[in-house]
This record gives sequence, C-alpha cells and structure tokens, in this order.
Amino acid sequence: MSQAKLALFGGPKTIQTTFSRYSPIGIEEVEAAKKVIESGVLSQFLGAWHEDFYGGPKVRAFERQCADYFEVKHAVTVNSWTSGLIAAVGALGIEPGDEVIVPPWTMCASATAILHWNAIPVFADIDPETFNLCPKSVEANITPYTKAIIVVDIFGQSADMDALMTIAAKHKLKVISDTAQAPGALYKGKYAGTLADVGGISLNYHKHIHTGEGGVLFTNNDGVAERLQLIRNHAEAVVGNKGVENLSNMLGYNFRLGEIECAIGIEQLKKLNHLVASRQKAADRLTNWLEALQGLHSPVVQADCTHVYYVYPMVLDIEMLGVSRSCIVEALRAEGVIGLAEGYTNIHLLPMFQNKIAYGSNGFPWVSGVCKRDVNYRKGICPVAEKLHDETYLGLAMCMYEMTNTEIDLIGQAFCKVWQQMDSLR
Ligand SMILES: *Cc1c(COP(=O)(O)O)cnc(C)c1O
Repeated sequence: MSQAKLALFGGPKTIQTTFSRYSPIGIEEVEAAKKVIESGVLSQFLGAWHEDFYGGPKVRAFERQCADYFEVKHAVTVNSWTSGLIAAVGALGIEPGDEVIVPPWTMCASATAILHWNAIPVFADIDPETFNLCPKSVEANITPYTKAIIVVDIFGQSADMDALMTIAAKHKLKVISDTAQAPGALYKGKYAGTLADVGGISLNYHKHIHTGEGGVLFTNNDGVAERLQLIRNHAEAVVGNKGVENLSNMLGYNFRLGEIECAIGIEQLKKLNHLVASRQKAADRLTNWLEALQGLHSPVVQADCTHVYYVYPMVLDIEMLGVSRSCIVEALRAEGVIGLAEGYTNIHLLPMFQNKIAYGSNGFPWVSGVCKRDVNYRKGICPVAEKLHDETYLGLAMCMYEMTNTEIDLIGQAFCKVWQQMDSLR
C-alpha cells in the first residue's frame, strides 16, 4: 500500500476527482412539472369545507401513491416536514404544558414543533451505536406530565420501535416518528415512519428524494388523518361546516403543497427504490474498506432492519487512537475526502433552551402557569449524545454527492492512508 506522505504534510492527494452533486431530479420531473404548468392549475386547494379542501389532482394522486408505497392507510402532503411535525403534534391533541420527549440528535424542528403548541420538549439520550432514542433514557424521563414521544430515525435507520412503542403503550403516550432521513428504511418488514401514531418524511432538496421543499405525513388512524388535513388547511374556517366537534388545536395553517411539487413527487417516488439501493451499495463498499481499521467503528445496523444511509455514521475510539478527531478529519480532508462532519448536533444546547426564551422575552411557555416543573436543559443531561458530538462521532454525508464505486474506493484509500500513518499525527 501507499507509503506516500500524507497530503496534510505535503504528500500527494489521494483524491483528485471532483465529486458531482447528488441530484435525483431528471427529465421525468421536468416533463411532469411542465404538464402541470401547461394545465394552468398550480394549486387547487380551498380553505373551506368543499371538495377542493383536499387539494387538486396531483396532490391526491401523490398521496394515494405514497400510501400504497409505504403501506399505510393515509398519506397527507405538506409544504415541508417542519410543517408536518407541527401538524402531527397538534393532531395528536397535545395540550399547553404537556411534556413531549425528543432526542437531542435531530434537526431543530423535531423540538420546535412541540413548542408551537406551547408544549414542553424534554430531551432523552441516544443509543451510542445507532444514535436513535435510547428506550431506557426515555423511560427515565417520563413524568406525570409526559404525553408523547417524538422518535427520530436518524441518519437513515429506524429507531428501536418495538421497545419505544411498548413504553408508550405502558404509559399511554402518543408517538410521532420523524423519518425525514430514512425514507424507505425497513423495520422488521415495515417502512420506518408507519409504525407510530403519526410519522412521515421530508421532501426538501437535500433528502433522498425531493420536490424542492415538501413533506408527507403517514397515519393509519382516520381521525388523526382528518385532523392533519384540517391543520394543514385553515381548520378554524372548516370545522363548522364539516361538523367537526373536537375543536382542540383546530388552529389551522396553510401547510399545503402545490400541484407542481406533487407531480415531481410522483416521479421521485418511482426512483426511491433505486436511490436507496445505490446509497446502500456505496455504504457497503465503504464498510469493506473501513471495517479493518483499528479504532474506527463502521455503522451498526439493527437485526431485521435496513439502513438507507442519509449519512454514513462512524465512531472513533479516540483514547485508543491517541489523536483528536479534528486532527484526523483535517488529514482526511487534505487527502480530498468530502462530506465529512465532526459531530452532529445537540438541540438541547441551542440558545432557545439554554435561556428558555421562545415566545416573547419573558420565558414563555416555561415561565408560566402552563409549565408544571423546572425542566433541565443543562449540558450533562444527555451524556452519550454530548460525548459523541464533542469527541468521537464522524459522519459522511451520502446524499450530498454522487458516490460511484471509483469514488468510494478513493475515499476508502484515503482513510487507509491516514490510518497507516496515524503515528505521524500523534
Ligand atoms: C430535514 C429534517 C427535518 C425538516 O424537514 P424540512 O422538510 O426541511 O422542514 C426534520 N427532522 C429531521 C430529522 C430532518 O432531517
């Protein structure tokens, strides 16, 4: 193998090619969007109790096809998955002051969706191997005020749904699954996002499949589906004529997705199998290169599950390597490795939670009659997530660049070169 000097110290760079951007959009999407524009019907939603309350032909067709693909009774499109999460929390009847458990390793919207209904996010720690919610930590964070759990299928793998749903049933909690990063991932033969009371995926432009912006909610419950549709489309103006009696959280929004996006979504859904399979093939090929490296743990996939690799997650054994993560990353980047992320995120440490300031400037909803206890967001509440973020976790974005076999092999070679010369970094 290569004994050339590390690129960091002036040696030759392993990777000379420029990676092309991941782009799942092709001519099929162009044609589909063009047809919608030519039809003149760019949206057909009406914010009133009317046949068009459910949107136009592309919205309805895309929703039917999503329901069929993901094997779920109802699919409800929304203009972003952030909107989807807000609608989900509202639809499940979460009340002001209710506590909702969420992991710190997610995109901030999983936690802010809770605050949008004046409910209180409570952070539980993650599993050190899958980075998904740790069932034990969830249980330890349940209080008499806990009403729901937002489970995140982080990086492309379902959370441990059997364990989490068992805890939820025992404590009578609702469950939302944020499957933004794991469309098409399987959990014991079922699609991630379909095992909770409500789940769903993001269709924003850096996810596996996209419509520019957008999202799709999944539920098997007719009543929940109706409430999601109401919150999506001006519930307050519709409930009277529709004869809806439960007015709780019927404060609606305009979360509607357009006809062009849904026409694009129909084409994207046809490509999901292939796009997921290509990420999996690339990840498996990379694992072949990396699994022999000492002090590097390649991704752990749970039994009976599939991983769709939005991110290829790794953990470094820093004590054993005797080199800091930032030093290793600097060496890898110098060799031309792209898409590396040191650490992920710890949502509980955002200024909003550290200062408990969300609505207005006086601490609402934490400092109010609504919040029943002093919820702790201090550093230290999620030690696993914090240590991974600060020291040991390393991610490689798989939906940012195309990953051909040649490119994966070059990335593998760059890792091997840095590992062979780890001594020079010490
Ligand atoms: C992308 C993402 C979201 C937000 O989705 P948008 O469609 O961008 O609003 C929420 N949660 C997770 C885990 C995500 O990755």
